[in-house]
Amino acid sequence: MTENFERYQRQIILDGWGAEAQKRLKKSRVFIAGIGGLGCPVALNLTLAGVGHITICDSDKVDVTNLNRQFLYNNTCIGLEKSPTAQRYLQRVNPDTQVEALYEKIRPENVDALVADAQIIIDCLDNFEARYAINQCAIRKKIPLVHGAVWGMEGRLAVFHPPNTPCLSCIFPEAPVTSSTPVLGAVTSTIGSMQAIEAIHFLTGEKMALKGRLLIMDFSTMKFQQFKLSKKSSCMVCGH
Ligand SMILES: [Zn+2]
Repeated sequence: MTENFERYQRQIILDGWGAEAQKRLKKSRVFIAGIGGLGCPVALNLTLAGVGHITICDSDKVDVTNLNRQFLYNNTCIGLEKSPTAQRYLQRVNPDTQVEALYEKIRPENVDALVADAQIIIDCLDNFEARYAINQCAIRKKIPLVHGAVWGMEGRLAVFHPPNTPCLSCIFPEAPVTSSTPVLGAVTSTIGSMQAIEAIHFLTGEKMALKGRLLIMDFSTMKFQQFKLSKKSSCMVCGH
């Protein structure tokens, strides 16, 4: 079987990549929870890279205040459901990638069916209720969760894959109080692109650098810090 990987030629020549890595990407299935500030760069980068199947799940409609960062939408999209709108954009970017759009709110009772047979979950959510649901789903399905979050000029990134690493609830046992936070498109697109890189590492068979680690990036000073995360034996989700 020969496949036309010409459009991926510039990444196939990456160190340790080759046609094999590209074939693995083509066979991959990814679940993106939320298609907003983080979800847009994650989905676009995975589509450009040639991931075979991407599911995007969001229950929001496009609002004018999204347009400073959510670059898969424009003024003509206001009021439209985000996931099918993003799906149309992404299918035009790369017809090789199958994009499935789910217009659904992620809840504990529907999350397993939504994630289905994805190999990895990317957390691009803005609320902890749904984050806890995908965390528990990732543990049940034994798949990694790539967490990304932005508060103002600070970005956070971590990869959870219990039992070898802690889970999201070990680190955030209680949902922080959330309100409408300030956010800059350049920050969300940076964090989302980094989440996509970690997912690509995993899907091509490489090690994820942030597995069990937390990277905190302060974009007001450009200071980045990395911490090793510890499991909490008292964790209500993954502890004993
Ligand atoms: Zn835990």
